[in-house]
Amino acid sequence: MAPSIEVSKTQLQAPEPEHCPGPESEQAGKDDACEGCPNQDICSSQLPKGPDPDLPHINKRLAQIDHKILVLSGKGGVGKSTFTSMLSWALAADEDIEVGAMDLDICGPSLPRMLGAEGESVHQSNSGLSPVYVADNLGLMSISFMLPDPDSAIIWRGAKKNGLIKQFLKDVNWGEHLDYLVVDTPPGTSDEHLSVTTYMKEVGIDGALIVTTPQEVALLDVRKEINFCRKAGIKILGLVENMSGFVCPNCKGESQIFKATTGGGKQLCKELDIKFLGSVPLDPRIGRACDSGECFFDSYADSPAATAILDVVDALRDQVELNMGKLSLS
Ligand code: SF4
Repeated sequence: MAPSIEVSKTQLQAPEPEHCPGPESEQAGKDDACEGCPNQDICSSQLPKGPDPDLPHINKRLAQIDHKILVLSGKGGVGKSTFTSMLSWALAADEDIEVGAMDLDICGPSLPRMLGAEGESVHQSNSGLSPVYVADNLGLMSISFMLPDPDSAIIWRGAKKNGLIKQFLKDVNWGEHLDYLVVDTPPGTSDEHLSVTTYMKEVGIDGALIVTTPQEVALLDVRKEINFCRKAGIKILGLVENMSGFVCPNCKGESQIFKATTGGGKQLCKELDIKFLGSVPLDPRIGRACDSGECFFDSYADSPAATAILDVVDALRDQVELNMGKLSLS
């Protein structure tokens, strides 16, 4: 009797194995990794490959999460992961809210250090991978929890990164319900962005938060990021301008370190019809808090930077509510 191959002409038979070159790639079905793979007939054929068999599992897992936010930046070094950690702490400050932070910056995971979870490891059980909890209502998942030591270099091709992202989305057990999942992505637009948007598309992403600094050299790359979001159909919740001026912690005097030569993030938002969520001044104490994995708001609640970040988080939550139709424009 013809086995399930009849059905499989348009569908993969099993999840891709670890070294899979990608079922849509030119090497599909021909690579060394394809030897013995149940999908080999399908992948080496010219027929369309059909939906990923893991998608229903991913959708089921993500259905327990109310809001999913991607944090993106055009350029590295603009404070994207720092802002992700601040956003996670700020959301989790409300004890009634369950928050998850997912570190998809596979080659440079920094959230474990910033959230005080460096050196921790994840546990696997029948219900999936357990995140590391840095507060009662704030869980974190990062590849660095799976590495033998934090200095290990991760040199992975796209397919392997894709496999890890899929595993995180499918297997991480965030508990019965999560209010917010904040996903930190690498700078630019790469394999990680394509994978995460593809896998999360069906279940829905609330949108992207874009982080930039004021200089034109950073804004140039932000334009590409915005383009990517528009092409991928991801709603842009808003843009935050980080390192926007420096407020001296002693004299409270303000100076511009990264000067906005072309109007900065605010002007860009006006140009591209994007919500400007606010500016956050440079404060060296943020860096120190992140290096030691402490919550910046606990120690410097009244600082201008803390106030600015909390204002941005409020504006972001308003955008999320607007999306859901819970808030009306006045
Ligand atoms: S046959 Fe090759 S390309 Fe297809 S899923 Fe298996 S390893 Fe990946």
